[in-house]
Amino acid sequence: MKYCQGTKCHTYDTSDRKRGVKGSKTNQTRKRTQFEYGHGDFCTLQCQNDWFRTHGNNAVNHFGRVTSPIILTEANAWQRQYNYNYWENRDTEPQYHEVNQITKAIRGCEQ
Ligand SMILES: [Zn+2]
Repeated sequence: MKYCQGTKCHTYDTSDRKRGVKGSKTNQTRKRTQFEYGHGDFCTLQCQNDWFRTHGNNAVNHFGRVTSPIILTEANAWQRQYNYNYWENRDTEPQYHEVNQITKAIRGCEQ
């Protein structure tokens, strides 16, 4: 079990956030085995956005702010995409592959 990382999760007044004994219940951060947003760390898109509003600038500065344009080249143009041939050939085709956005070449990738 883990807690939603939303900075205001506890402020949203829903019955599933109420914890404690009758008469002294408090709203608390949601706790689940899995969340659907932000790679599993946030219970809603609202909570994800709240976190970003609070920590986004610090996170970007910490991990590296883009200060000049990133140029698309053949070397960095690989993009993971769904392989539509997988739909009819599940035994032989991989579900995902990488497509080069410049050359349109296709290569395998981790599934
Ligand atoms: Zn939340």
